[in-house]
This record gives sequence, structure tokens and C-alpha cells, in this order.
Amino acid sequence: MRRILSGKASENHANWAELQFPATNMSSPVGIPKQHKAAVYDKPGSVSTSVTLVDTPEPGFGQVLINLTHSGVCHSDFGVMTNSWRALPFPTQAGQVGGHEGVGVVVKLGPGCDGSEVKVGDRVGVKWVAAVCGTCLPCLSGSDGLCLNGKISGYYNPGTFQQYVLGPIDYVTPIPMSVPSEQAAPMLCAGVTVYAALKRSKAQPGDFVVISGAGGGLGHLATQIGSRGLGLRIIGVDHGSKADLVKENGAEAFVDITQFPKDDNGAAIAEHVKSLTGGHGAHAVIVCTASNIAYAQAIPMLRFNGSLVCVGIPEGDMVSIATACPGPLVFKQLSIEGSAVGNRRDAHEVLDFVARGIIKPHVRTEKLEKLTEVFEDMDRGQLNGRVVIDLS
Ligand SMILES: [Zn+2]
Ligand SMILES: [Zn+2]
Repeated sequence: MRRILSGKASENHANWAELQFPATNMSSPVGIPKQHKAAVYDKPGSVSTSVTLVDTPEPGFGQVLINLTHSGVCHSDFGVMTNSWRALPFPTQAGQVGGHEGVGVVVKLGPGCDGSEVKVGDRVGVKWVAAVCGTCLPCLSGSDGLCLNGKISGYYNPGTFQQYVLGPIDYVTPIPMSVPSEQAAPMLCAGVTVYAALKRSKAQPGDFVVISGAGGGLGHLATQIGSRGLGLRIIGVDHGSKADLVKENGAEAFVDITQFPKDDNGAAIAEHVKSLTGGHGAHAVIVCTASNIAYAQAIPMLRFNGSLVCVGIPEGDMVSIATACPGPLVFKQLSIEGSAVGNRRDAHEVLDFVARGIIKPHVRTEKLEKLTEVFEDMDRGQLNGRVVIDLS
């Protein structure tokens, strides 16, 4: 790939920095290329990506240009690529660059970035909500992940399956020094999402919490954060092939989903969970998997005052939770809550768990050219933990 120096080194701080921080793994000459490598959704509606060259953008007012080195692959990317989330307002367009767990190095500042804590050379992250307005009611309420004017990375905005991306200097997430970039990436969506969901469950140390989909990208982090970070007694539910991973991540018990019927609205699996929790059921269930069956199974697993926290979003037509009947909700005082992606403070806090060595994301790295295969494996439920794309 041809690369150029975008100006004289002495002209400004940004250009000086371009000389100091290689744009990719190429050694010399060093600079920001006019074009860079990106994976685009070439046939939205199907599982397909292709790697192409796209123009490297210039940072606008208040923006930084980030040379991405890593991007996690999230199930939400799959939903965007395949147009299978009915909740999204518009179909994905061909040529969309997906991805929303990006980590890289700031290589250039746009105008209006002087005096910010974020400097050229800093590692920063890009989240699902890549930019917010800062002035709408959710933003003012500390729920910036719900910003009414938020920009979604990888859906109608260029995402992180590419080597360069823009981000707002006041909303990119600083990455702590001791956290390797490939481990930081999954924290920016999966990690912050499940951390926020665990907080929302109001489970206290010592409480039983069921993680549905405990071996997946979100679930394995929920299991680690819950058990090692928050002192919860985690019961992991997933396919039997993931038992070892789930237990290694700190689950006290593992429930093999394949050993229970799918068509009894959770009656059998709930009885089993009760046997593991002193007969009462779990204090909370966090459904990380995008499965309507998992949601139907969750409510019967709850004890009195228990709460179901919805995280995974099933694809296809929107289906009500089969067991969410007013009777049991009233008699057991159950609550059902949704939890989105957390706010910027949650992102700082969850990265700190990694920095302190309390949790360690289970990561496998792959090259950008393998992205389609990664999605195919994801579709078959064959991924353990998180796949992170190495963009160098
Ligand atoms: Zn995500
Ligand atoms: Zn806002």
C-alpha cells in the first residue's frame, strides 16, 4: 500500500506525531496513508464481507484520527450485516464498514482539540455508540449510551473493521496502559454491556446470578466480572461444549442447555436451577444470548424479588417473552429490565477490572481477511469467548 507524509514534520503537533507513531506495521516511510484497508459488507442481508481500500478521512472539529490495531467482532455486527434486527430503522447499505469494538492509537487531532486529556500517541477505544450529542435528556441523565442523537459505529457510520477511523476527542475511551489492545477491544462493547447489566440486576455479593449464554463473547465476560469482580455466585448456562470455559471463567455451576427440553417454557431447567440455589431460584438472570427460548426459560428460574435483565437481542421478528405473565410477576415481585451498552463511566470502570488483573477476556485474534469465516462460525454458535481482528 502506498503511503505518504501528509505535511512537514515541523508544521504542527499532529504531523510530528505521525512520524512517531507508525500508521500500520510498515516500517518506513511512516505516515498516514491516503487510503487504507477496510472490510465492508458487500452483500447486506447475507453473511459476506470483502476487504477493500477506502479513503482515509481527515479529522474534523473536535475529532481525532485513530490508527486502529484491533477490533472485536460482536454479534450485533452480525445482526447489522444480515439485516436481521427488525428493531433497526433502516437496512444496511452495501459498502458499510462494520465493527464497534475498536482500539488504536490517536495519530492526528482535528481543530478544536487543544487542551484535551487525549493526546496524539494515546491508545483509545471506539464503542457501539461512537459519538453522542452531550445535550439531550439521556446524555444529561448519565445515560449517554442512550443518546437520542448518538452515532452507531458500523451502522450508517464507518465502523472499526478498518485501519483508520474518526472519533470525537471527548467520547473516545482512553485505554489503561497495562491493558493489551486485543484485550481492551472486547471490553468496549461486550464488557461494558454486561457490566452495566450486572449493575442493573441489583444483585449483591453472594447472590446467585444465572448467565444465559455464559460461554459467548458477552457471557464469558459477565461470568468473570460477576464472580471475580462483584462477588456473585454465577451459574453459567450454555452448550455443553463450553462447560470448561465457563467454569474457568469463575462459574460455580454449569448447566448444559442441551440436556433440557426447549419447548416446556423453561420448566425443567428452572427446576434444576432451583436445586442449585437452595430451592428458591436465582436472584437474577442475565440473558446474553440472542435466543427467544433463553428468555422464556429465564423467568421461571427467578426467586422472589428476582430480576431478568435482557441483553441479547434475538434476530428476526420481535417475539414477546413467553413466560412474562402478570401472575408470576406479581406473586413473586419479579422485574424485567433491558440494559443497553452502559455509559462512559461504565466503560472506564470495566477496563479497570482488566488493568487490575481481576478479569481477562478470552480472545482469539484473526486477520481482517478471515472476517467472513468468523461470522460463519458465530452463526453456528462455534465461537468461544471473543474473536478480535488484528488490523495491522
Ligand atoms: Zn457489540
Ligand atoms: Zn445525547
